[in-house]
Amino acid sequence: MSQEDYSGFMVFAEQHDGVIHPVTFELLGKARELAEKKGSKVYAALLGYNVGSLSSELIYYGADRVYVVDSEKLKVFDVMHYKDAFLKVIEKAKPEAILMGATNTGRTLAPRISAALKTGLTADCTDLFIDEKGNFIQVRPAFSGNIFAHIGTKTKPAMATVRYRTFKAIEKDTSRKGEVEKVEYSGPDDTGYKVLEKIPREKVNISDAEVIVAVGKGLKKKEDLKIIEDLAKLLNATVGASRPLVDDDWISRDHQVGFSGNIVKPKIYIAIGISGSPQHTVGMKDSGIVISINKDPNAPIAEYSDYFIVGDLYEVVPKLIEEIKKKKGT
Ligand SMILES: Cc1cc2nc3c(=O)[nH]c(=O)nc-3n(C[C@H](O)[C@H](O)[C@H](O)COP(=O)(O)OP(=O)(O)OC[C@H]3O[C@@H](n4cnc5c(N)ncnc54)[C@H](O)[C@@H]3O)c2cc1C
Repeated sequence: MSQEDYSGFMVFAEQHDGVIHPVTFELLGKARELAEKKGSKVYAALLGYNVGSLSSELIYYGADRVYVVDSEKLKVFDVMHYKDAFLKVIEKAKPEAILMGATNTGRTLAPRISAALKTGLTADCTDLFIDEKGNFIQVRPAFSGNIFAHIGTKTKPAMATVRYRTFKAIEKDTSRKGEVEKVEYSGPDDTGYKVLEKIPREKVNISDAEVIVAVGKGLKKKEDLKIIEDLAKLLNATVGASRPLVDDDWISRDHQVGFSGNIVKPKIYIAIGISGSPQHTVGMKDSGIVISINKDPNAPIAEYSDYFIVGDLYEVVPKLIEEIKKKKGT
């Protein structure tokens, strides 16, 4: 089959226990934009068990056709089954490009698909567009985020992963119509993969937080996180962190903001003792109001801040807590 025969943009519709991950809707929105530019279609690949009813949701958010693989073997995320089932869908649809969320699931599945198809995979894209020649271009930070590389993939389908909250979903339109196509899957009974137990982890969904109180290396020791947590609690906020705190094991990676952490877009972002490296700001630059507290008046975070408090966090934060408590009457 010639490379020209590949057309359309396919989104991997990630779902867990029948709930679609919202990155899927964001990817469908971007896929619509790309497909309209190329005059082609948007496909969604929906894999799971008893998931057929989710198809309409994917259509409302932009899919023209949903390929559904419904099998008990896909009840849990067994990457071997998911890989083989997804390959069947790709073989049927022959999309020009495949978009997947840069989630744990996407990051586990995407490289296996790209290896099986012997095609290129561009991870953690920050933008996707069609150039003037009609080529699908993937944009991602390179050299620790200091430049943005524009990457075209010679082989098809091209594959890209994109982090949650990078793109915006289009408005849900319940009048949209689309097709649903079932794809049969009969993989092996045993892939050697067995889920022994599901252990719920600390639930921190920093990407969805409306208010974030983030802290960086300005903090002297792990125990001092307590004052940051106190401030966050008062403001009903989620605690964020720069990477050094995560690397030092002071706080879990779920809280990390930035290039190798999470992309956040809260209404209010309070950056305490954070210098504002490019790797950090790439993750928070689209926040609503940014308030920074820093000893150094020349810290690069100032450039991203609406309010910049020059001072020692160990003096400023307790004062802030006191004032907020007074205002709240607590
Ligand atoms: C490949 C790669 C990926 C990376 N990914 C990420 C990422 O996702 N997220 C991320 O954050 N970083 C990331 N980094 C690390 C990044 O380059 C920076 O090292 C990091 O962001 C710096 O964190 P920081 O601002 O907390 O620390 P510093 O740069 O050390 O800044 C500390 C700040 O605190 C201020 N300060 C010190 N004491 C006080 C005080 N008492 N009161 C008030 N202010 C004070 C200082 O003036 C300074 O501005 C990455 C690096 C690489 C190479």
